[in-house]
Amino acid sequence: MKLVRVALSVPLFKFFDYLYEGKQPVVGSRVIVPFGRQKLVGIVIEIPKETVITLENLKYIIESLDQESIFSEELWSLLYWSAEYYQAPLGEVLNGALPVKLRQGESAEQKTKTFWNLTALGKQALTNNLLKRAKKQFDALNSLDVLPLEKGNNPFNSGIWSALKTKGYVEEIEEKIRLISWQDRLEELPIAKEYDRLTLNQEQAMALSQLIFGQGFNVWLIDGVTGSGKTEIYLQHIEEILKKGQQVLVLVPEIGLTPQTVQRFRSRFNVEIDVLHSNLNDTQRLQVWQRAKNAESAVVIGTRSALFTPFQNLGLIILDEEHDSSFKQQDGWRYHARDLAVVYGKQLNIPIVLGSATPSLESLHNVQQGKYKSIILKKRAGNSTALRHFVIDLKQQRVHNGLSEALLDEMKEHLEKGNQVLLFLNRRGFAPVLLCHECGWIADCQYCEKPYTYHQKQRALRCHHCGSQKPIVNQCAKCGSTNLVTTGIGTEQVEATLEKFFANYLITRIDRDSTSRKGALEHHLKDIQQGKSQILIGTQMLAKGHHFPNVTLVALLNVDSALFSLDFRAEERLAQLYIQVAGRAGREEKQGKVILQTHYPEHPLLVSLLSQGYKYFAEQALGLRDKMGLPPFSAQAIFKAQSRVSTDAELVLSRIAENLYSFNVQDLQILGPLPSPFSKKAGLYRWQLLLQSPSKVKLQKVLLQLRENNISIPNKVRLILDVDPIDL
Ligand code: ADP
Repeated sequence: MKLVRVALSVPLFKFFDYLYEGKQPVVGSRVIVPFGRQKLVGIVIEIPKETVITLENLKYIIESLDQESIFSEELWSLLYWSAEYYQAPLGEVLNGALPVKLRQGESAEQKTKTFWNLTALGKQALTNNLLKRAKKQFDALNSLDVLPLEKGNNPFNSGIWSALKTKGYVEEIEEKIRLISWQDRLEELPIAKEYDRLTLNQEQAMALSQLIFGQGFNVWLIDGVTGSGKTEIYLQHIEEILKKGQQVLVLVPEIGLTPQTVQRFRSRFNVEIDVLHSNLNDTQRLQVWQRAKNAESAVVIGTRSALFTPFQNLGLIILDEEHDSSFKQQDGWRYHARDLAVVYGKQLNIPIVLGSATPSLESLHNVQQGKYKSIILKKRAGNSTALRHFVIDLKQQRVHNGLSEALLDEMKEHLEKGNQVLLFLNRRGFAPVLLCHECGWIADCQYCEKPYTYHQKQRALRCHHCGSQKPIVNQCAKCGSTNLVTTGIGTEQVEATLEKFFANYLITRIDRDSTSRKGALEHHLKDIQQGKSQILIGTQMLAKGHHFPNVTLVALLNVDSALFSLDFRAEERLAQLYIQVAGRAGREEKQGKVILQTHYPEHPLLVSLLSQGYKYFAEQALGLRDKMGLPPFSAQAIFKAQSRVSTDAELVLSRIAENLYSFNVQDLQILGPLPSPFSKKAGLYRWQLLLQSPSKVKLQKVLLQLRENNISIPNKVRLILDVDPIDL
């Protein structure tokens, strides 16, 4: 029997056997198969000799799509490893690592494109000005003098081209002729633009030489204050790798993929750089995949999933802002791109460079254990000086919609000197709550049982958890009063207040609402860069990665709620956020100042962070985690169950817990089932069961044993397993 075993993108821990005719499909190639009434694209994972399926139930594959595996050997084993470790169905993992177009069955081969090219006759025509009377034809021909133009994808219509072709002035050529790979040009072309390259300071130079001389697999943690010149080190390290003809992958957080960052990489190098950002369509994503696979691109910059881009000759992975939570996938196959990058680097025997001004406690722990090598940059690069930090105690202060008078005075001072001021508030909309002044009723989302956020500009109440929205109500649903008031403050309200206090200055607000239109973020950022606006108010989007040389004052308006969170990671996150936001100030010659408004200036976290810095905070926090046996000193996994009827989810988790208890595993802590901190979302009740063990290996064994027990999950319950969760 001619059999293939196929992994399909279905949430089941099983594979499917099919028959084939003709040539044997290769392991790692795609096939189209019948599945119930559907046709699905799957990946061949094995050529089995026999099957438990009876002959009459075996079906034939419909089509074999690839001649060879579409995964490299290393990527294939990384994905296998990942499916095991995160307990995700292999079919979902393999398919999830591919661009959408490949999952849909599109060819993995690059299509050749046709271009219009200038002929010798055409060149003569241009020189002798033979097209005086045909302006459009002249323009089309003239534009070919620089580069061939793609057929069907250029500003001139086909009539013009056929007229030129008849005259023999242009010819059609295939793309392949046009392309000379950057690797073939290495000898003749400087990889980087010399004039852009900065002379490294001593700290940077030492760092770079360590990176360059550390051959093979190593994980480097560049632990350098904001503005210490980490990016400059990356750029010069990349240059060295490219000179060897190897490719480079740069992973950045979702928020970090700013036009500025991309521009900085693009303008430095003379080689092809591809960017995987959220505005690309599926075809463009496939093209990046193909270009990297064929080594046409030298550098790929992207977010989390760019890790699965195939490369012909990968020589380095850089992961900037390694502490950022967007590196963890939060649905489906819940991998952590940083941790997978390390596993991948080991397989490929290449260096992994992690960078951050606020390294995660996990990475710092790995340095302490000798698994990662640390490179510390203490000084800001260039001419910028160290930041000065201040606290405004909000108690008993007069506060105007979140802005204390002391802060308003400070702002005035900085603005009058011609500088920019950045205010950070992690809450978009006008106000987080709309309530009845008579009876206390709160307008809340029925699906999540959480207050709606009041959006004045859009005249809407919006749930920031499930996305539902409705028009603003004018009457209390309980007592009928029309005396409704908002409470709490969002960026929209701060903007409106600032407009009153600073009528002579322009304000730019940056949050998900103000940047939802395509190109809006770029537009706003340009206004800031060019100094058109002087006051910037924004959420996380404004807080990270940007380089605004003219900002001298940064203020965090309200971060108090994070001081009292139940999540043991909340303090670490707050400390990272504070340092990141603060790092937007004083990035060039001008002295930067950071102000934190709080009702709790004596809170130990704030005291240690502000007076001693992140390093000290992190040491303290690690000590505490150690004492309490929390990650990174233990491993966690969490089962989350959701259902329309609360007890259904609880019951499934109870069954899992019973099973776990029956294994009698030493040191395994089983906490729950308990309602999740966020106990209802989008109409579903949420429960969780937390497992904790001092040993990752032991925890892995338990999870595997549990899977083998095959506990049946009713259809009405959605069960999720999150290994190494980063939030509870
Ligand atoms: P980080 O990535 O650590 O935040 P950057 O690489 O963005 O730091 O550098 C911060 C600023 O300092 C940038 O404006 C950069 O051009 C400048 N800079 C970095 N290294 C040097 C250097 N060696 N000499 C002069 N300026 C530098």
